Amino acid sequence: MSREPRHRIRVILPAFIRLAAIAIAALAVGAVFGASAGLWIALIAIGLFFALHLHYLSTLGAWLEQPSLETIPEGWGSWSEVFNRLYKARRTSEVNARRLEDSEARFRRTISALPEGIVLVDAALQIEWCNPVAEQHLSIQLRADQGLRVTNLVRDPSFIAYMTSGSFDEPLLFRPLANPALALSIRVIEFEPARSIIMSRDVTQAERLDAMRRDFVANVSHELRTPLTVVNGFLETLLDAEPPLDGTRQRHLQLMHEQASRMNRLVEDLLMLSRLEAEETPLAEDDVDVSALVAELEAEARALSGGRHQIACTVEPIRVRGSREELRSAFGNLVSNAIRYTPSGGRIELVWRPYEDGAVFEVKDSGIGIAPEHLPRLTERFYRIDRSRSRETGGTGLGLAIVKHVLMRHQGRLMVDSEVGQGSTFRAWLPGTRLQAGTRQLRRVA
Ligand code: ADP
Repeated sequence: MSREPRHRIRVILPAFIRLAAIAIAALAVGAVFGASAGLWIALIAIGLFFALHLHYLSTLGAWLEQPSLETIPEGWGSWSEVFNRLYKARRTSEVNARRLEDSEARFRRTISALPEGIVLVDAALQIEWCNPVAEQHLSIQLRADQGLRVTNLVRDPSFIAYMTSGSFDEPLLFRPLANPALALSIRVIEFEPARSIIMSRDVTQAERLDAMRRDFVANVSHELRTPLTVVNGFLETLLDAEPPLDGTRQRHLQLMHEQASRMNRLVEDLLMLSRLEAEETPLAEDDVDVSALVAELEAEARALSGGRHQIACTVEPIRVRGSREELRSAFGNLVSNAIRYTPSGGRIELVWRPYEDGAVFEVKDSGIGIAPEHLPRLTERFYRIDRSRSRETGGTGLGLAIVKHVLMRHQGRLMVDSEVGQGSTFRAWLPGTRLQAGTRQLRRVA
């Protein structure tokens, strides 16, 4: 017999036996003293029986108001079995609750011991819990701030923009206003539809080293600039000298001039990259007429190609807010790459159009293409698939690193589609928030 029917029988059986006893007693009294005496006895006994059940029922009701293991009532007959069972169920649930509390406390102690800051927030970014490291990093206090929105407590604009963006693929690097000496890397992990973990990591030391490296590169590049300009200047004068030098010397001078110019480009690109990487440099907020800028780039592309490629250009009158100089440099790098990596007779297309809640500058070429394994590393400094081809065509290996940084500073991103032998499409996307008011409407119509 399974447990359930057995339990039922243990509850019902005593009541059944008592009812049977009452019936037998009533019949016995009825046989000796007459039927009405038997009936009275049966009525009185059933009444008492009913009153007893009512009493236990009300005791159970009272206990349920404030259920606790210590105050479980004691019962008689079937009720003893019911209260026993209640006692066991209550004890099991209290043991389970204690175990759950213990494991939750252990989990919190473990998280508290982590070197990273952890903040648990709900869908409205209200703080549910945080560890002491997070309290220190973000200048919050769990006791006082529980239930408050984290963006009301950490009021740095970059933090607020990041937390409300909903896009957490890349970590946010920021220095809290309350403690500018601290450099934090913030990550958001959405682990339930309505809950997220904000993780903060102290990257002050790594940032300091990175800043030293950046300063070193910027200083060296800066120091190299002047001597290189002088060398280049004299080489040009010698090359233009009258009467010209003999063939071999002239060739040597020409080679020196080419290499010095390459160094010059390298130094200029390194300086540009250092400027872009230095967080302190504020981003210029020009009103940039990108269609005019693309028209300039098209003219430069034609000059660079020297008629070797078919070049087409389609633009829409979308203006953006950002740094004209930086956007020109980034878009220019994409255009010059397309020309440099597309053999003669190829086709290059420049497009500026609305795209995914923003606008995109697209450079499509029918060139040599890129194998998929190289795509994730293209924007690394000095990453080149074919080093000699890059050098021969005047590349520095820094072009796409510059593009990535410029787009990041404009909250945009670079996308690449490519197939070896078929060509590549580089897309520099800028978000809708960067589009100028008049052109946003155009975006909606498109
Ligand atoms: P580089 O100065 O060497 O061109 P970049 O950073 O601009 O440096 O580009 C990195 C590498 O990406 C290049 O060396 C080249 O191998 C590859 N690449 C960039 N653009 C293209 C393109 N349009 N087609 C094919 N390969 C490209």
